[in-house]
Amino acid sequence: MILNGKILSEKRLELLTEEIKESGIRPCLATVLVGDDPASHMYVRMKHKACEKVGITSVGAELPVEATTAEVLAAVEKFNKDPKVSGILVQLPLPPQVDTQAVIDAVSPEKDVDGFHPTSIGRLYSGHPKLVPCTPQGIMTMLAEHGIELAGKNAVVVGRSVDVGRPMAALLLNADATVTICHSKTQNLPAIMQQADILVSGIGKARFVTPEMVKEGAVVIDVGINHDENGKLCGDVDFDAVVEKASAITPVPGGVGPMTIATLMENTLKAAQAMSCNPAQ
Ligand code: NAP
Repeated sequence: MILNGKILSEKRLELLTEEIKESGIRPCLATVLVGDDPASHMYVRMKHKACEKVGITSVGAELPVEATTAEVLAAVEKFNKDPKVSGILVQLPLPPQVDTQAVIDAVSPEKDVDGFHPTSIGRLYSGHPKLVPCTPQGIMTMLAEHGIELAGKNAVVVGRSVDVGRPMAALLLNADATVTICHSKTQNLPAIMQQADILVSGIGKARFVTPEMVKEGAVVIDVGINHDENGKLCGDVDFDAVVEKASAITPVPGGVGPMTIATLMENTLKAAQAMSCNPAQ
C-alpha cells in the first residue's frame, strides 16, 4: 500500500474549508520570517497560499537578515497581543545571531501552531496534547486514515529532533506503541530497525534505509527530504527497493510533506476554536 499524502491532504483541506465556512470562526495565521533564505521564503509563501485556499486569513512580518533577538521577539509579541491572530508560526531556521529558543519560548502557547513551545511539548509528553508539531501529527493522521493499528506494535523512530523525531515518538507512545528512538550515536542501528513494525525515518540522508534494515511487512514512513547525487529529490528510504518488503510506505515527494501543511491549517483552526471558547486569551 502506498500512503499517498498528496491525495489525503487535499481531502483534509477540502473538509477543513467546509468546517471553517460553517464554523463562523475567522482563523488567522501570522508568520514571522527573518532573512532572505529562498527556501524559507518559499515555505512561507506555500503556507500563506494554503491559508487562502481554506479560508484562513494570513498576515506576515518580514525582518532583515541582520535582525536582533529583540526585534524578532517584538514581532512575536505584536502577534501574541493581536486578538485577530489565532496562530503564530516562526519560520526556522533563524539567523545565527537570533536566540531561537528565546523566540520559541515567547510564542503564546495558545497560538503555538507549530507545537514547539515547551508547554506544547510538555503537554504532548504528559499524554495531554493540544497543539502538536505538524509533521508527526500529519503522519498520525495518515496512519489513522489507512486503519494502521499502532497499539502494542514495535515502533522505531530514527532521528530525535524537536520538530520530527521526539514528537513522533511521543505520539506513537500515546497511541500505545512500544517506541525506540534512534540517533547518530545509536549502536547496531540496522538490528534495531529490523525489529520495527512501524519504522519512521527522519534523518535527512538520501536513501539511507535499505531493505536489509526493514522487517518484512513493516509500515515505513519516510520524513526525509533530500537530493541524491544527481540532484533528484528523494527521501531517507531507498523507495524502489524497500517497497517490495513494506506492507505500507510513503513516497517522497507526495507522502509526509503535503500532510505537514494540511496539519498546520488544522492546528490554526484548532487554536482559533479554543480562543473563541475563551476570548480572554
Ligand atoms: P535534524 O534536526 O537534522 O535531525 C536529524 C536527526 O537524524 C538527528 O537526531 C540525528 O542524530 C539523526 N541522524 C543523522 N544521521 C543519522 C544516522 N546516520 N543514523 C541515525 N541517526 C541519524 O533534521 P530534522 O529537522 O529532524 O529533519 C530530518 C529530515 O526530515 C530532513 O531531511 C528534513 O528535510 C525532513 N523534514 C521533512 C518534513 C516534511 O514535512 N516532510 C518536515 C521536517 C523535516 P543526532 O541527534 O545524534 O545528531
